[in-house]
Amino acid sequence: MTDVLARLRALQQGDLPTHGGSTLAYVYDSGLAEADELGRQALALYGATNGLDPTVFPSLRTLENDLVAWAARLLQGGEAVGTVTSGGTESILLAVQTARDAAPGIAQPSMVLPSTAHAAFHKAAHYFGVRAVVVEVDEATYKADPDAMAAACDDTTVLVVASAPSYAHGVVDPIPELAAVASARGIRFHVDACIGGWVLPYLRAGGVEVAPFDFVVPGVTSISVDLHKYAYTPKGASILLHRTAGLRRPQYFAHADWPGYTMLNSTMQSTKSGAPLAAAWAVVQHIGDEGYQRLARTSYDATLRLADAAEAIDGLSVLARPETTLVALRSDERADVFTIADEMVARGWFVQPQLSFRGQPASLHLSMSAATAPRLDELIAALQAAVAQAQAAGPVQVAPELAEAAKAIDPALLDDAAFDGLLEIAGLGSGETLPDRMAPVNALLDVAPPRLREALLIAFLDRLMRPS
Ligand SMILES: *Cc1c(COP(=O)(O)O)cnc(C)c1O
Repeated sequence: MTDVLARLRALQQGDLPTHGGSTLAYVYDSGLAEADELGRQALALYGATNGLDPTVFPSLRTLENDLVAWAARLLQGGEAVGTVTSGGTESILLAVQTARDAAPGIAQPSMVLPSTAHAAFHKAAHYFGVRAVVVEVDEATYKADPDAMAAACDDTTVLVVASAPSYAHGVVDPIPELAAVASARGIRFHVDACIGGWVLPYLRAGGVEVAPFDFVVPGVTSISVDLHKYAYTPKGASILLHRTAGLRRPQYFAHADWPGYTMLNSTMQSTKSGAPLAAAWAVVQHIGDEGYQRLARTSYDATLRLADAAEAIDGLSVLARPETTLVALRSDERADVFTIADEMVARGWFVQPQLSFRGQPASLHLSMSAATAPRLDELIAALQAAVAQAQAAGPVQVAPELAEAAKAIDPALLDDAAFDGLLEIAGLGSGETLPDRMAPVNALLDVAPPRLREALLIAFLDRLMRPS
């Protein structure tokens, strides 16, 4: 047994560190060792339970109702109900599915999204046959434009979407104005607070000025908030809230017309582990309101300080002033952000490259965890050094003929051999080993149109995921 565990630990050596504050995307670290230990023990305690049927595991019902009540209180939903899901994507998928199924008379439903909405809405569009109508955001602020959103609504619109805040830029859309647009037309309005929903209420409680974004705004019908981000719980937990039980009804699925048990599901999963739910409950109880208020303030202050420090680095700037705990950084023409990201990795820090998009420059995303705050000076020094090094090296040059070719390729016409060749050119080879430096790969992807980026990445994943 110890031998097998040792092998797991050895395999983990190649992973990004989940704790210690040096990873600024994917993982969120409270820095509270006791909360982590509690989460681990709760996971172990509940690993074999099944949330398929809350009548036979009544403890899971209690835990879920407790967590939903907590979130409803935070997000000012007087009569709100909700569901604990496996993550932000599942919460969003369910919000879209529910809106679609609440309007069975609309044969070809659509939803209106700002261009900054999370990719999960496009996944929902793909899965559920809901057309995504994408609306440009304000060029200067990266926020949704209520007039343009209103103009995009029509008789087929089943959902309007906004973010609090957006993942890529960390800005909060004008929720009251957008809610008015949706409710004037009787359309559901989802606020994606996956990453901000456990931060903004605590910042507000701590005296930070926070524009209304939750159920206090009339017309907001559902909100998603992830526990496995800024509630610092183990992975696999998010909440989807609906303003009323009536609005939630179409989310539920039952099937009695087969020979087995009557299936009754609130989520996309049927058999589901109670472990992430129990762990989330335990961590939330342990950290508590005061703890979250402190953690939110710590991360927010560190984010603002980082933004100021980045602005002071020659050649670096923020895309938008942070409103929560996220910041996006861009570089001027002397360096490319992909090289900066590689230089950060070389210095022990992970920041997340974001490709250029609709005229917006490529950038680096940083999600600030509370555990990073005590190491902020170190992070800033690494950033200074990484930028200087990237400027000395100069931006990665993509051969102009390659960039031209990338624009002309129709991915629908490529076969497996063609993808093999393209992946080789992109430096992603057979997928067996990843390149040390990702900048050349990212620079090449960056000149490709989104459809080609997607096709290449899928081809890459397809080759990566083969049994050994
Ligand atoms: C993280 C995130 C999501 C998706 O959540 P997952 O837990 O990764 O599925 C959706 N929206 C926003 C704004 C997010 O930050």
